[in-house]
Amino acid sequence: MNEITPQYHYSLLSRNTFGIDAAAHCFIEYTSEEGLLQAIAFHRHEWPRLPLLHIGGGSNLLFMHDFPGTILHSAIHGVQPMAQEEDMVLVRVGAGMKWDEWVEYSLSRGWYGLENLSLIPGEVGASAVQNIGAYGAEAAQYIEKVECVDLTDGSLRTFDVAECEYGYRHSVFKTKFQGRYAVTHVWFRLSLSFVPNLSYHGLTAALEAQGKPSASLTAQDIRQTVISVRRQKLPDPEQLGNAGSFFMNPVVQVSLYNRLKESHATIPCYRVDDDNVKIPAAWLIEQCGWKGRSLGRAAVHHVQPLVLVNKGGASGADIRNLCSRVQADVLERFGIALHPEVMMI
Ligand SMILES: Cc1cc2nc3c(=O)[nH]c(=O)nc-3n(C[C@H](O)[C@H](O)[C@H](O)COP(=O)(O)OP(=O)(O)OC[C@H]3O[C@@H](n4cnc5c(N)ncnc54)[C@H](O)[C@@H]3O)c2cc1C
Repeated sequence: MNEITPQYHYSLLSRNTFGIDAAAHCFIEYTSEEGLLQAIAFHRHEWPRLPLLHIGGGSNLLFMHDFPGTILHSAIHGVQPMAQEEDMVLVRVGAGMKWDEWVEYSLSRGWYGLENLSLIPGEVGASAVQNIGAYGAEAAQYIEKVECVDLTDGSLRTFDVAECEYGYRHSVFKTKFQGRYAVTHVWFRLSLSFVPNLSYHGLTAALEAQGKPSASLTAQDIRQTVISVRRQKLPDPEQLGNAGSFFMNPVVQVSLYNRLKESHATIPCYRVDDDNVKIPAAWLIEQCGWKGRSLGRAAVHHVQPLVLVNKGGASGADIRNLCSRVQADVLERFGIALHPEVMMI
């Protein structure tokens, strides 16, 4: 049975949180693995030389121009508890489910772990590609395995967590297998008893400011606090187009950091290991005078300089120009290369 309906000259405006007005030659949404296989076969048959791209909620993408090939999107939803072991539950979740709906649902079932990752935009499938992280937690801590379909030949493959090679906003799906696999389901291992993750100072400070004693915290306390802090700090893509942190925080050698500290006494850092520290890219960008500055219709956000925004009507090229200018200034002043977290297409 045919499960797919290809749509041509498809506007991507509502499919990317930057609000870039690009179009796809063809767009196919599928609701099952069978539908995905049909979509792959259709694309390979119709235009084997054109590119194939899988997107989620488009919250980490920047379309530089119209996409000349087929864009795939998963509408595989559903949450299936698969096993319970002692204090843990193993749950299989459809890649097309919205990430924050999954977080909310997991907590409502008494499955703990994802509360610090509340309100991150996007879908479950991308969480396993991106290894999303915030407030002292990252998806990789809770992922057991990732079910995929190989876009080159339609074969199924399951990656266990070690094979995903997770690191800071990093996975095998962003490196050697970039663009090769469609994630169909992600398996999470969550706890049946709640232990608050208070490793991130900003979160503990916000909880204290609300007068929440750490001895009696609930997972909902964490979730609601994370949501409220995020709403204060980050622009809502519905109001102001953006893709969250545009740049990754650079990891530099301690020797470089010590040299920089001689001329910039207040430069902050977080220890990564004995040899390396992470420097907040937002601080570097602000020091270069970019906080709140515009370049045409593109701007650096006035509260969180790590976020580039579309003030309305910016093109992908406008955002990229701003990105290049910021990178050049940070490189010139600090000798540090900023790398985009956002995927430019
Ligand atoms: C306001 C805002 C705040 C944000 N805050 C955070 C944050 O705190 N922490 C954080 O880590 N990120 C954050 N982000 C970035 C973004 O939410 C994440 O990167 C998210 O995982 C992207 O999900 P998505 O579904 O929108 O994926 P997309 O942006 O559509 O795609 C991202 C990548 O995943 C691939 N992909 C998507 N779905 C699939 C699939 N099913 N199979 C195979 N590949 C797929 C795409 O090809 C692309 O390479 C933020 C973004 C915004 C706009």
